[in-house]
Order: sequence, then structure tokens, then C-alpha cells
Amino acid sequence: MSNLSFIKEEIKNACDIVELIGQFVQLKKVGKNYVGLCPFHSEKKPSFTVNPERQIFHCYGCKKGGDIFKFWMEYHNVSFFEAIKDLAERYNIQIQELSDEESEKREKLFELNEIAGSFFREMLFHPDIGKRAREYLRKRGISKELIHEIGIGYAPDSWDSLYKLFLKKRIDIKLAVEAGLLVQKEGKEEYYDRFRNRIMFPIFDIRGRIVGFGGRTIEEDITPKYLNTPETPIFHKGNLLYGINFSYKSIREEKKVIIVEGYMDWIALKRHGIENGVATLGTALTQNHIRRLKGYAEEAIVIFDSDEAGKKAALRSFPLFANEGMPAKVVILPEGHDPDTFLSQFGKEAFLNLLENSAKPLLDFCLHMQIKNGKIKDEEKSQVLKNFLQSLSFIQDSLTQGIYVSKISQFLSIREDIIWAELQKIKQGKGSDLEEEIKKEKSAKLIGDLQILSLALFHPDAIPRLITSNAKILINDSVIKEIIEAIFQEYKKNRDITPEYIHEILPDEKAKAFLREFLERPFIVYEEEEVEQAILDIERKARKKELLNCLKEKKGDIKGQNELIKILRRGGI
Ligand SMILES: [Zn+2]
Repeated sequence: MSNLSFIKEEIKNACDIVELIGQFVQLKKVGKNYVGLCPFHSEKKPSFTVNPERQIFHCYGCKKGGDIFKFWMEYHNVSFFEAIKDLAERYNIQIQELSDEESEKREKLFELNEIAGSFFREMLFHPDIGKRAREYLRKRGISKELIHEIGIGYAPDSWDSLYKLFLKKRIDIKLAVEAGLLVQKEGKEEYYDRFRNRIMFPIFDIRGRIVGFGGRTIEEDITPKYLNTPETPIFHKGNLLYGINFSYKSIREEKKVIIVEGYMDWIALKRHGIENGVATLGTALTQNHIRRLKGYAEEAIVIFDSDEAGKKAALRSFPLFANEGMPAKVVILPEGHDPDTFLSQFGKEAFLNLLENSAKPLLDFCLHMQIKNGKIKDEEKSQVLKNFLQSLSFIQDSLTQGIYVSKISQFLSIREDIIWAELQKIKQGKGSDLEEEIKKEKSAKLIGDLQILSLALFHPDAIPRLITSNAKILINDSVIKEIIEAIFQEYKKNRDITPEYIHEILPDEKAKAFLREFLERPFIVYEEEEVEQAILDIERKARKKELLNCLKEKKGDIKGQNELIKILRRGGI
């Protein structure tokens, strides 16, 4: 066994797939499997399945699936080597140097961020250099403990202090540019620090590694007020939520997440002992954000600023939550307030009260906005209704849907039955159940293929006879053919093949996905006493097909054809 497969085995032995995935996706036990909402595509009805017996996962919606390594790669967007490394570390398994180019580079970017982060922290506590920054943080009510906990630092008011440090440490300057820490002067081999005279907030991924920084100026007249790391191979704003590494446990406990608009707002929550918050990084909420949060929370409360931009952001986020099927409420703070000023002025109790009592369901809130200027004109009604119908049709729970229908009916003075009829139209337009279709297709076309697959997978003793009778020629479906060929080949090398092993060695993703679904629902399973008859059937069919093929080839050769026909008759084929 190679070193790599040895390590893989070690990790597999130490790790339970349900426990691992369960940390990122809310799983429920259904029969022998666990199901949850897929973290890789939008869905409201769980089709993401984890099979503890085979230690694999599979999504019936987007067809992603595989073992623990595959999950880790997809979920954290890392290479295979990184997944091995991460999981080995997680389960305390010693590994030797193991790397590829891409993961090496990402690793280095993380390292640079760590170096920069500790430099910024050091500068913040430098008696002179960090004095004004400390003063600023003190005024904002951010305690020393909190500064240490979330790693706040300070980038000095200088063009080259980080640059010089990197030179001294013999760090690849080009890489520091790629990490977004240095900026190269256009067309010149000259570099300067991106972050200057700013309070530095390290931005962590869920595993607590620094992926980038947010810098806030301490001079009020400097723009931009907030400056983030640009997009880098490890920093993608649309996927990142500030504070998630500190909050996800509380979010899971409370089943509720509070979403705010920036890290200062998040810090305000944290400072007042509200632990289940996250912040976007100066971007609008994305579908990815919500999909991630779905793994921890059952409900979101989104806090928007009271200005027009805040209201528009609320409206924009509605379809996102609807698409992910995550219930969301909106809180708009009183005029002129953000979470920081509100919490500082009125305190935690008042804030939680506000969330409790004046949070409006997102759809409700958006409806109110549509008719904000008094009355809605008759000619606008159908358009407003259309805007909402699609979103409405996404709501799974018919009771909730009914509540909205009745609300919209009241708002627009349109009869409820008309709205229901429109909704029905949308629903009928949707495709029928995917699984049903798969079942139908399979039973009609592929039954013969599946019989052979079932025998080969679950009754390996039958394989030699399937090989000698050339059962392969009976298979129509190219994916099944690929799987069968893999099984036959492996069987020649090793008699102890298991379905899990075949799944692992299949090179093609489509074939893997097919095999996972087949293992989950094999359609055809032979009892031990049925196997012999099934093999005999296949042997007979294979022989017939071979002879028929020959017959086709012997076109014109009357004598040869007659010989074959005799054989066919004699064999009772
Ligand atoms: Zn999926």
C-alpha cells in the first residue's frame, strides 16, 4: 500500500462521515441514512444523503457525492492534498510532506497573512505607534480581551513597514502582492503597503485561518472608510461571512443567526454578549452565504440600516432566502441607528426586545414596502402580484403559504382564489419529481443492465461466469458498462472487491454518481437462491446476442447462416 493510501485509510478509520458532515450540514436520521439540505445547490427539500454504512454522501439534486475527502474538498474549496492534510490534522494522524503546487501556494498565502496579522497586533500594542489606534478602540468600547480574542491589529501610518518586514524575512514579494498585502507600482519594480494607518481586523475562515483583512481608517476624513483585501486565491467575499468561526457554535445552539452589514456591527453584537451573529464584508448577501448558514441555523434575522439602501438590500435578499428555503425576518433599526449605536445607547435587552417584537417576516416587509406611498393603483396590482408569485411558490409549507396568500389578497384587494389559481399554474409548470423520473426511465430501459450490475456488485462469485459468458455485450448504457468493466478488471486483480472500493476507483464522476444512487436504491437485488437462475438467463442471452451478431456478419454466407440458425434452435435459444 502506498503511503498516500495508507494515510487515507488511517483517516477513514478515525473519522465518521456523519459526525464530520454534521458539523457543516444539519442532518436528520431517516431510515439507515442521514439527510439534510445540500450545501452545494439550492434546495428546500433535503436530497443530500449521508450513508454511514458506506461512509459516502450523495446529493440526488446536483449529483455531487463521494467520501469524506470529496466532501472536504467541495465544501472548503481545497485540493485533494489539502483535504488529506486538514483531515489528518483534525484526527491527529501523522503525515509526511505531502503537497501539490496549488495547495503549496495557498498554504503560503495563509502563512503571509499570519505574519502580517501578528505584525499588526504587535504594532497596535507598540507604545507610540499604536497609541492613537488603541485610543480609538477604547472609545468604541472594544475591550483588551476582545481585541485579543478576535486578533485586532494596527497597520502603521507608513508606506513600507510591512514591505520592509517581508524583505527582512526574505519573503517572496510577488506572493505578498498576490496576498493583497502589498501593492506594486504600475510598470515598476516598486512596492508599498496596501494598508496604512488603519485598524486591522483579520478575517477568518470557518476553521479560524486568516484569509484576508479588513482595515478601518482612524481618520474620519479618509476614504475609503473600510478597505478589504482584494479577491485572492483564498479570499472570496461572496463566500465569506465575518465572525462565522467565532459564532457557528452559538448559532447552532440558538438555531438562529443574526446577520449584520459589517464587522463593526458584528463586533457591537459580540461586545454586548450576542454571540450568534455574522457580518457580510461590505457586499450584499449572496446565495452562497445563506446556503452556508443553513448548515447551522433554522432562521435568520437580518438587520438592515434604516436608509433607502438598507430597504433595497432587504428586497434584494428576499428571493435569495426564498430560493434557499430559509425563513428570514427583517429588523430595521430606528432612524439614524446602526447596531453599534443602538446597542451602546439602549443596551442588549432593548436590542433583543426589538428583534423579538418588531422583526417582520421578509415577505411581509417587502410587501409593505411596495405599497409604502399610501394606496396602490389598480393597474400596478397585477405586476406586484407577479413579483411575489414566484417567491410564494417556493414556500413549502402550505399553511405559511396560505397566510401569505391571505396577506397579499388583503394588500392588493385581489380575491384569494385568484391568487391560488395563479400559484397553481406556476406549480404545474414545474417539472415532476426527479426521483420518479429516474425510476421510470430505469425500469423501462435499463433493467437488463441493472441485473448484471446487481449480480456483479452484490454477488462477486458470479463474476467469473459473467466474464466468460461475455455478459458485457448485453449492456446498453455506457455508464453502467464503465462500472461493469471496472468491476471485472478489479476482480481479476483482487477477489475481495467491495462496492465502496469500486466507487473509489471509478475515474468518472458520472459513473460514481450513478453507482452511489444504485447502491442506495438498487432496484434489483437477487436473493442467494435466485442467483443461479439469473446467471443462466444472462449466459443464454449473451450467447444469443453473440450468435445474432455473427449472423449479421455472415450476411450472404448462406451456409454459415444456416449453421448458426441450427445452433440457435438446438440450444433452445
Ligand atoms: Zn446538491
